[in-house]
Amino acid sequence: MSEEAKQEAGSEADTGGDGDGPRESGGGLGFETRMIHAGAGPDPVTGSRQTPIHQTSAYAFHDADHAASLFNLQTFGFIYSRLGNPTVATLEERIASLEGGRGATCAASGHAAQVLAFFPLLEAGERFAASNRLYGGSVTQFSRTFPKFDWRCDFVDTEDLSAVEAVLAQGAKALFVESLANPGGVVTDLEALAGLTRAAGAVLIVDNTLATPWLCRPFEWGADLVVHSATKFLSGTGTVIGGAVVDSGRFDWTASGRFPGLSEPEPAYHGLKFSETFGDLAFTVHSHAVGLRDLGASMAPMNAFLTLLGTETLALRMERHCRNAQVVAEWLTEHPKVEWVSHAGLPTSPYRELAEKYLPNGAGAVFTFGVRGGYDAGVKVVETCELFSHLANIGDARSLIIHPASTTHRQLSDEQRVAAGAGPEVVRLSIGLETVDDLIRDLDRALAAA
Ligand SMILES: *Cc1c(COP(=O)(O)O)cnc(C)c1O
Repeated sequence: MSEEAKQEAGSEADTGGDGDGPRESGGGLGFETRMIHAGAGPDPVTGSRQTPIHQTSAYAFHDADHAASLFNLQTFGFIYSRLGNPTVATLEERIASLEGGRGATCAASGHAAQVLAFFPLLEAGERFAASNRLYGGSVTQFSRTFPKFDWRCDFVDTEDLSAVEAVLAQGAKALFVESLANPGGVVTDLEALAGLTRAAGAVLIVDNTLATPWLCRPFEWGADLVVHSATKFLSGTGTVIGGAVVDSGRFDWTASGRFPGLSEPEPAYHGLKFSETFGDLAFTVHSHAVGLRDLGASMAPMNAFLTLLGTETLALRMERHCRNAQVVAEWLTEHPKVEWVSHAGLPTSPYRELAEKYLPNGAGAVFTFGVRGGYDAGVKVVETCELFSHLANIGDARSLIIHPASTTHRQLSDEQRVAAGAGPEVVRLSIGLETVDDLIRDLDRALAAA
């Protein structure tokens, strides 16, 4: 993080929390203004108005003292692009501002951001809890790979608050949920869960990928950390693999005493205590100085640049994504070949009320529906569509379609698939920015063939 970035982060410290809607929250400037300006001004040397792509591995020191103070974390600045890069730092500022957070750390992918989120929190042998309605890749990461670090995940139905309370009482140090869950049109009751994690001294981590900060800002409901896959709507054109972890700056690591990685002396930095030295920036500084240093999953400057371009139009795109998705979802509910539609913006959705509370600007553009005829019919629909691209991604300008049971959720057991909303008849759509009538015509043809 640069000195400017640190000061910019400071100017965003008091954002969020008033629940006044996207246009008002965030240190005075409106959301759309911050989409374009947060973290970025004209380049002080060249005048370049767009953020330059700093395609460099390393940065020249002024002299030996400057180098020493950078390495000691006494001066903020750039050393080596694994630890920080000016283009990436601009994106970090921007995402932190849009979320109303204190600071952010970008990563090579959404999954890398998830590792970075847990890394300062968990020691070997410790536990965390996660919703059983998650992106399939996250279920696999938590249940298969994290145990190799001796991090143990208990999956829990987060709609059963007493089950969440029980798992927190058993020592889970964090709870991981998605605000709008992939793939099922499920909206999470963030405020209720934040009450439980706060009471238990645990960290609430919210994956806000599907909602984006335009639709939902989890910090306003009490979340401590937000993670993103920038691969999706933030970049928005299917060009990037990237991620971010954003810190609210509100968890008191020193008072808690449960997170020694952040509050106890760090031997690699002469016994520095991150929470004591950096206060509400402790998590973000640690994520760069220790997390990226040792895990090495840094975002490439080109990917940061493309994601910056994406954020400039985030609200405009999300409005159209949501409007198109609402029209397609309503049309599908009337179709004789469709058993059910799981879009949270439908009047019949069990999540309608939660959507009105947490997603007032729209219920998102990724949802599922059930085709009559099960697995084979689902595969047929996916293969017959022409305008919808059959691929494993979401959040593109193009409309996308996939059959989760045979692809993204393939590694899961049958029960895990059903719990994750990815049963055999389920087809997932990510509605793009095209003319909505063309999308409906394409789906109509595919459903006729099923
Ligand atoms: C895609 C996705 C991820 C993983 O992100 P990558 O950039 O693919 O690593 C995590 N959570 C959700 C909700 C996603 O959609």
